[in-house]
Amino acid sequence: MPQPPTTLSDELGIALSNLADAARAPFTPTLRLGVTGLSRAGKTVFITALVHNLLTGGRIPGLAALTEGRLIGARLAENPDPGVPRFAYEQHLAALTGKSPHWPDSTRRISELRIALKFQSQRWPGGLLGPTVLNLDIVDYPGEWLLDLPLLSLSYAEWSAQALERGDRPHSRHDAERFHAALAQTHPLAEASDAEAERLAAAFTGYLRASREDGRALSALPPGRFLLPGDLEGSPALTFAPLPPPAGPVRSTSLYATLERRYEAYKAIVVRPFFRDHFARLDRQIVLVDTLRALNAGPSAVVDLEAALTDILAAFRQGDNNPLTRLVARRIDRIVFAATKADHIHSASHDRLEAVMNRLVASAARRARFAGAETRSVALAAIRATRESQVDAHEVIVGTPEAGESLDGVTYDGDTEIALFPGDLPAQPDSLLEDGTSVALKFLRFRPPSRLARNAEGNVVLPHIRLDRALEFLIGDKLQ
Ligand code: GDP
Repeated sequence: MPQPPTTLSDELGIALSNLADAARAPFTPTLRLGVTGLSRAGKTVFITALVHNLLTGGRIPGLAALTEGRLIGARLAENPDPGVPRFAYEQHLAALTGKSPHWPDSTRRISELRIALKFQSQRWPGGLLGPTVLNLDIVDYPGEWLLDLPLLSLSYAEWSAQALERGDRPHSRHDAERFHAALAQTHPLAEASDAEAERLAAAFTGYLRASREDGRALSALPPGRFLLPGDLEGSPALTFAPLPPPAGPVRSTSLYATLERRYEAYKAIVVRPFFRDHFARLDRQIVLVDTLRALNAGPSAVVDLEAALTDILAAFRQGDNNPLTRLVARRIDRIVFAATKADHIHSASHDRLEAVMNRLVASAARRARFAGAETRSVALAAIRATRESQVDAHEVIVGTPEAGESLDGVTYDGDTEIALFPGDLPAQPDSLLEDGTSVALKFLRFRPPSRLARNAEGNVVLPHIRLDRALEFLIGDKLQ
């Protein structure tokens, strides 16, 4: 898939905002880290855990600057973009560490948080001048928005053809049934009416939602804002749907022409500003993926997920041919693909989960490397909600399932701790994609840990798995 084209004014906009970033923080280097993933992938939990570990010097031995004693401290700093909501770190931490710990509210829109990291550089001659500060700007945004970027290079007719083809695939037909029925009663060349556009858009949104909610299609289909509309809900730019190619001349007052205009408005009002104002300013990116859920949902979900990850990487700015921006435009040079919630399986399987992740992003990573970006796959749990044990010869995990979770005919009350043998991941990840091997995992949502240890300074310690490994790859070189 081609990367999204940018117009000259976009290129200028990107260049100017990068210059503005430099002007606002003239002496302090800044690293903008994008955190994304589809809804419920674990973004909010990841950022909260990451920030808390940095602020409290938590258990992150994988971060070399910390183990080498060069990380002097971290503090929250004023957000750089006054127009972007602040990531509600304190609120999310309170949810996780309060009297009755619960998972925080999930990401629904973009938000940002700046941490200033003070460290002693090893570099010559900078290190001789005393401690240095790096501003780490964490930008949290829904992965659904990223899947919109390819729309920038698709006309309405091209997007419609793709969307209708996907809705017609055997495993989508059921979800798309009502949309297909609504389409059958539509006359694209007839005079448009708002009611008609709304009816069709509602049926199309219902299909998008169904394909997300049954836990099967983890690759959300664009337009992403249909599922997370925010304050654009009900606006014409969000009230369109794909239509088959017109069977005759298209009048400007027809339904076809109206929906085409709205599709173009969606690109202009929603997609392009996101690309220009946020995405194109990122330096590093972590893509969080609920891989275990996809594995559990079966082979077609795994294939879908691979396609989504490849699409996501196609959206990254690859190279830069515009002489105006070559000097000032940033581009993402490191990307982590993280399989989240690794505490749902035993540590003996973590390497296998990482291998699965590696396989899923193999073709995407090849493109990224070609474009000069390094990629890494990690299996992590930002907050570890289980511990490990052994029952008979089986390696099990022990945790408290959320109230209402059920497995094998048993429904849990939210207070009972259980030991669970979650199942095995395949030793050969190729089998998942090539012969569609399915993996029967026992997958339950667990409550967050309730008895948290404290460090010498009295700060709560949040247990995690391999969070530090991801962090070292994402920012370690900037703390040298
Ligand atoms: P977001 O939509 O990407 O912001 O997702 P959240 O960060 O809100 O996570 C969604 C849900 O996944 C949470 O409510 C938890 O149930 C679960 N979750 C996220 N991270 C972890 C983790 O590290 N371990 C476990 N066990 N569950 C997690």
